[in-house]
Amino acid sequence: MNQEATAPAANFIRSMIEKDVAAGKHEGLVATRFPPEPNGYLHIGHAKSICLNFGVAAEFGGWTNLRFDDTNPDKESEEYMEAIKRDVSWLGFEWKSLCNASDYFDQLYDYAVLLVKKGAAYVDSLSAEEIREYRGSLTKPGVDSPYRTRSVEENLDLLERMKNGEFAEGEHILRAKIDMASSNINMRDPAIYRIKKSSHHRTGNQWNIYPLYDYTHCLSDAIEGITHSLCTLEFEDHRPLYNWVLKQIDPASKPEQTEFGPLNLEYCILSKRRLVQLAEGGFVDGWDDPRMPTIAGMRRRGFTPASIRDFCSRIGVTKNEALIEWSVLENSVREDLNRNAERRLAVLDPLKITITTLPENHRELVNLPNHPNREELGTRELAITREMYIERADFEQEPPPKFKRLVPGGEVRLRSAYVIRCDEVVLDDDGKVTELRCSHDPDTLGRKPEGRKVKGVIHWVSAADSVAAEVRVYDHLFNRPDPMAEENFLDALNPSSLQLYSNARVEHHVASAPAESRFQFERVGYFVVDMNLSSAERPVLNQVVALRESKTA
Ligand code: ATP
Ligand code: MG
Repeated sequence: MNQEATAPAANFIRSMIEKDVAAGKHEGLVATRFPPEPNGYLHIGHAKSICLNFGVAAEFGGWTNLRFDDTNPDKESEEYMEAIKRDVSWLGFEWKSLCNASDYFDQLYDYAVLLVKKGAAYVDSLSAEEIREYRGSLTKPGVDSPYRTRSVEENLDLLERMKNGEFAEGEHILRAKIDMASSNINMRDPAIYRIKKSSHHRTGNQWNIYPLYDYTHCLSDAIEGITHSLCTLEFEDHRPLYNWVLKQIDPASKPEQTEFGPLNLEYCILSKRRLVQLAEGGFVDGWDDPRMPTIAGMRRRGFTPASIRDFCSRIGVTKNEALIEWSVLENSVREDLNRNAERRLAVLDPLKITITTLPENHRELVNLPNHPNREELGTRELAITREMYIERADFEQEPPPKFKRLVPGGEVRLRSAYVIRCDEVVLDDDGKVTELRCSHDPDTLGRKPEGRKVKGVIHWVSAADSVAAEVRVYDHLFNRPDPMAEENFLDALNPSSLQLYSNARVEHHVASAPAESRFQFERVGYFVVDMNLSSAERPVLNQVVALRESKTA
């Protein structure tokens, strides 16, 4: 697909890169990477990073790698890698190379040996607790480990034996030798290799030691020839370490790190390690539950790739961290669907009507446009029959003031069909309305009635031609815009985030539509055919968004 379809908006990173290109820095090349850890599914925050990385590289004729930052074998898996690849592709982006930090384990180890030989790294044998104590605090400088002065020979020997699996986890650790008194705690001799006996999903049991993030990331960038390493603000204090490692190793390629504000979105939690609790704790129907802020969840919810890219372009990229309103995302989705989704008729909570003035086997076809202002999308036929369904909420026995829909003895127009009058209300023993017996005015098909005004227009489906469906309408997963402000974010879960309409009726054109088809159900909202659960016999639909922004949202 065209990666520039959604033009990246101007932002400080783009301006910086524009200057670099103009100045001939990195020989004018713009090479970026998107580097998720495969420890969960991607979320909408990642979409921001993806759009930025792929968007800006494409704009300047460069390229982007998808790199799995897979240095933490306990939490990572192939399932997550597959999901991440699927989501990046679905968003519409193509990576140049698919890379893994684990591809570089040999090289990273050789670099570590180089650091030791230079006297820029040493094996420490303090316990984890001692290391924490020696590190000091924001107000207190750290203290040198007694092992800091080990000879190069001893360090090389220990490092090799760590690699060979001769020691237990936690017995030794390889640290960069920088400055224990640095005002930046990240520079107080950070760990660069730890002993870990876990099996890795790609390298199996080959390694007994694994490199840490800060050491791995900058070198992976350099190995791949990345020019601009874009990451979120929490890495700002890590930049001096990023640069220190590169300076020590002095690779041919010199990537530069720039930080931007992460996306925070109302009513959402954007962190894989918390989302895993929701997905695996049974709080939702897995990672792709339509209420999840994951790309997979949003896809199942019916959001389009174009609308997510549009959202990312609208929110822009700044140095600040802001909480974006949920309605911004919904507006992007709604605008896209209003333009592109075909119209259909569906009744979520059906009330039967019988048009007594039509014969038993009446079947009259009417043509409805698939889109009110896109003629090229054509029309479809629907049958008017004696038995129909309307929305229960479109009838009131005791109507409030200004109620313009159907009332006892009143008239209403069935959209694109006749004006009908409610002659009789049928109740069950509990006083619940079970059926309306109506008459139609045969002169009102596509015409206004003579001598009177009928204001209300309601939607309908034919009883014979519609299909019973399950429709799911969603509210926010959390009941407050900032669920992380709760001591335990699980306490902020909204108990009524899913409303089920299990007796809905949809016109037969919806039942035959393939999974992921999106429609506007006229007067109801935008809906998508569920990609996991729907079948022609039993369609399952998810509400994508309401027709209009709700006042409470
Ligand atoms: P975890 O909770 O496991 O740390 P994460 O959501 O931070 O997960 P990473 O795999 O660490 O995900 O991030 C991959 C890339 O996406 C990084 O470059 C990171 O800066 C970026 N990223 C993560 N969260 C956001 C966000 N909310 N907004 C923008 N970019 C993000
Ligand atoms: Mg992270």
